[in-house]
Amino acid sequence: MKRRGVLIVVSGFSGAGKGTLMKKMLETYDNYALSVSMTTRTPREGEVDGKSYFFVDKETFEKTIAEDGLIEYANYCGNYYGTPKAYVEMKLEEGKDVILEIEVQGALQVKERFPEAVLMFVMPPSAKELYRRLVGRGTETQEVIEGRMKRAVEEAEWIKHYEYILLNDDLEECAAQMHSMIQSVRMTPERNEEFIETIKEELKALVKGEN
Ligand code: 5GP
Repeated sequence: MKRRGVLIVVSGFSGAGKGTLMKKMLETYDNYALSVSMTTRTPREGEVDGKSYFFVDKETFEKTIAEDGLIEYANYCGNYYGTPKAYVEMKLEEGKDVILEIEVQGALQVKERFPEAVLMFVMPPSAKELYRRLVGRGTETQEVIEGRMKRAVEEAEWIKHYEYILLNDDLEECAAQMHSMIQSVRMTPERNEEFIETIKEELKALVKGEN
């Protein structure tokens, strides 16, 4: 039976390990597609255009907004970030469960536009550990790190709007838990209406035939 994929939104404080978690999910399980965002931020060392992000200038980004080419977008720490629409639609239609790794303002826009989307927030085991991971990454200046820690304080206020939190202490465990949560979501009656209707029809036909 063909079914539309689940739209999954993953947010979390900068440094919570979302990127590593996404990588693990894609490596371990078959049915996920990760959306590649568009951003005006400058690439970090090792980032690949079209893979990590579509790196564009402000004009291109604003043109894409005007053409309704994004599902959502937000300004985060001075740069635009947004989710291109076409890829997400295509993969959902194919039955893939599509993951958007985006920040809170974007996540809430997705929830408005797609109420059936599942919002998950990745938590570090502690605030100290978050700071340690951000510093350890070695890709940001101290000023940027401090900006991101402040941003985390604001973002924490929005966690209550998410459906689930994911504790990222042990990576493998976290990925397994995320996968099992999504599997559960796929089994709700609302997402299986067609199948339930088929069974109902079959039952009726069988009962009729037997009477
Ligand atoms: P970074 O600069 O560290 O790659 O990303 C900064 C923040 O932007 C992260 O919280 C990340 O999840 C978020 N982000 C990445 N892509 C998108 C997007 O397409 N839309 C929104 N709203 N946020 C995004």
